[in-house]
Amino acid sequence: NNSASSPSSELFTVSSPNVTYTDNEILSKYTYRTTSVTKDAAGKYVATPKETVYDFKVDRKVPKVGMMLVGWGGNNGTTVTAGIIANRRGLVWETREGPRAANYYGSVIMGSTMKLGTDPVTKQEVNIPFHDVLPMVHPNDLVIGGWDISSMNLAEAMDRAAVLEPTLKAQVKKELAQMVPLPSIYYPDFIAANQEDRADNLIPGNKASMAHVEKIRQDIRDFKQQNGLDKVIVQWTANTERYADIIPGVNDTADNLLKAIEQGHEEVSPSTVFAVACILENTPFINGSPQNTFVPGAIDLASRHGAFIGGDDFKSGQTKMKSALVDFLINAGIKLTSIASYNHLGNNDGKNLSSQRQFRSKEISKSNVVDDMVEANSVLYKKGEHPDHTVVIKYMPAVGDNKRALDEYYAEIFLGGHQTISIFNVCEDSLLASPLIIDLVVVAEMMTRISWKLSAQPDSEYKGFHSVLSILSYMLKAPLTPPGTPVVNALAKQRGALTNIFRACVGLEPESDMTLEHKLF
Ligand code: NAD
Repeated sequence: NNSASSPSSELFTVSSPNVTYTDNEILSKYTYRTTSVTKDAAGKYVATPKETVYDFKVDRKVPKVGMMLVGWGGNNGTTVTAGIIANRRGLVWETREGPRAANYYGSVIMGSTMKLGTDPVTKQEVNIPFHDVLPMVHPNDLVIGGWDISSMNLAEAMDRAAVLEPTLKAQVKKELAQMVPLPSIYYPDFIAANQEDRADNLIPGNKASMAHVEKIRQDIRDFKQQNGLDKVIVQWTANTERYADIIPGVNDTADNLLKAIEQGHEEVSPSTVFAVACILENTPFINGSPQNTFVPGAIDLASRHGAFIGGDDFKSGQTKMKSALVDFLINAGIKLTSIASYNHLGNNDGKNLSSQRQFRSKEISKSNVVDDMVEANSVLYKKGEHPDHTVVIKYMPAVGDNKRALDEYYAEIFLGGHQTISIFNVCEDSLLASPLIIDLVVVAEMMTRISWKLSAQPDSEYKGFHSVLSILSYMLKAPLTPPGTPVVNALAKQRGALTNIFRACVGLEPESDMTLEHKLF
């Protein structure tokens, strides 16, 4: 029954006794092979191959999805909205370098491919768009909405952002002018004081309350109903907040956090209130900014409700380079000894980050990104040894959204020599972040349609993934993982996890790159 029931939108089917297609589902039996390592009495490692068989189930029906952005009227919010509309309408616009057409470059899901396998006759690789690995929602079909503390409609906000070409703006202006952000919650202590003049679109009340949680839940329900949506994904792309203090009895457990919101405790941030509202509404919530929105109580609440959360901080420019380059250096056996990172940017994000407490959130999220790679190499680094790493961010209005990231990587090579790599990276910030916003929504939505269980327990129920969606790590600077589980920052590993989990869902082996079929003498 393989291809007969395959919707025409699906590019391939898997022909295997372990994979079954029904009208609504793809069912696969997948053998997960790992290696368990212990130490024997003599202190030597013993590596034992292990096999676990899982049953995966993928819901094939692509739902109608809404994307609601907190901070919709910001640079990212307006750019991603205009970009999706431009793609949906197939727009072409003039620039001084000639006509440009809408695309999804920079999106892993829409812009990259995955090797499906090898053609036995030509021996050539067959690569397919990443988007076609599973029946994912197409970004053109997303219905977009959201909140902002600034009342500007999206057309004016797009002008304020100063990101897109005037010839493109002219073509989407009318549609964007109809889009007006819903009023949001504003607790002035959490974002920089220099943001106050744009806060003119507010839900009354300047500290956390259950009324705020309920209002946001109602907004999500209304949006769903008004647009006939099956589900909504919410993303925080609003200003970076200061860190919230973790206080026992306040935000350490789900119950304490709910009580703290009821009591209007001043350590509960707007982003945490949004997260709580989404969790209670069973709506996936992703945090694209660096602050600790997911205080332990929020993670606890998400697990309790089985609601998906993901974060933190979009990984678009400097850190993305870092998680690729450091992965390369350390895996090449080169001893990285310091990283000096300077940024200057002139957009509203930069203005907000010019305030110390908000900068601190960014500094923290940017600082741990090489830890796992350093720890994994006990040849180069002694236990506890670490490269020096510093991050500086300055507000420089003139460069606008075109953030400059200057990095020096200093490394020790053979016999005491040095390698110095200097990078000047002009990151058109919102044009890099917008495709990530799309990827995060598409992947998070896909995860709501995948369930699995141990094959050894055939009578048990299929379950979803853990509430904390670590599979989103590739798109995020400081990946949130289920409590007590390792954080992976290395970019290639993050992509591997995403690719191979999606392959497993359709019963395909991970791509090992061994190409043994070409190597026998
Ligand atoms: P921006 O300042 O242009 O937009 C943020 C928007 O959020 C503004 O319109 C503001 O009015 C709104 N806002 C603030 N508090 C709010 C609240 N409580 N509720 C609703 N709206 C609120 O910033 P941006 O350039 O779009 O970036 C957004 C966020 O994404 C920042 O925190 C930034 O650090 C983070 N980020 C961006 C990138 C990138 O652009 N490449 C990368 C990583 C992280």
